[in-house]
Amino acid sequence: TQLIEMTDIRKVFYADEVETHALAGIHLSIDAGEYVAISGPSGCGKSTLLSLIGLLDAPTDGRYRLNGVSVEDINASQRARIRNKEIGFIFQAFNLIGDLNVLENVELPLTYRDGVSKSERRERAMEALKRVGMAHRIRHFPSQLSGGQQQRVAVARALVGEPSVLLADEPTGNLDSKNGEAVMALLAELHAGGVTICMVTHDPRYADFADRQVFVFDGQIVDEETLHKLRQEE
Ligand code: ADP
Ligand code: ADP
Repeated sequence: TQLIEMTDIRKVFYADEVETHALAGIHLSIDAGEYVAISGPSGCGKSTLLSLIGLLDAPTDGRYRLNGVSVEDINASQRARIRNKEIGFIFQAFNLIGDLNVLENVELPLTYRDGVSKSERRERAMEALKRVGMAHRIRHFPSQLSGGQQQRVAVARALVGEPSVLLADEPTGNLDSKNGEAVMALLAELHAGGVTICMVTHDPRYADFADRQVFVFDGQIVDEETLHKLRQEE
């Protein structure tokens, strides 16, 4: 079933009287259970695309259905509510909260949900931490963990609310190759267990883990052959 369906999505930024057409007509569908990698040169619109998929921002134009619901025209508070339910994020910089321990970081998304008791929060956070192999570090603070361990905790935090899709923006960008590969192996394992993943990466080795690669160039999706041609012309 189709989880994400974007039709002619456009995003224009206005800053200092300059218009930037960050996305210039994106058509993208992602099925439940798919693992999609988005790549393309710096500045082509990958982060903007991921932030629209993840309801961090709204498109300037176009249609977007997420899990059967039209979300292109909803207001910021509706967007936040649907985001909290449907989307899990991981980032290059992990973005854990430094003065919360591992368990508290992973519980955090559930505190924004109605009707989840403290004991259920704890139970679900422990479950998520087991899934990423970090249940033995629940009292540690982020600064006491390696980058690879922090990213695993961030994956647990992203999954604890059982989102429809896990969005990852350069999840290995701050990691050495050993830890990077471990995080990619974890994502592959989660995908094998049914998690839908959409990942931005500029690293072709890591894009190979995905079922499908999507190439972005100047705010549009192009096929691989076109991408090579455009790059040569630059
Ligand atoms: P990528 O992730 O592929 O490097 P981005 O999505 O970050 O690309 O950026 C696409 C284009 O949109 C770039 O030209 C960037 O400078 C611009 N852009 C992104 N976010 C903003 C913003 N908040 N305000 C103004 N311009 C932005
Ligand atoms: P990456 O290359 O890893 O995608 P960027 O440095 O392009 O990261 O962008 C990081 C974030 O900063 C983007 O998600 C975007 O929201 C914001 N950003 C990018 N370019 C601009 C810009 N020109 N003005 C304001 N914000 C920007």
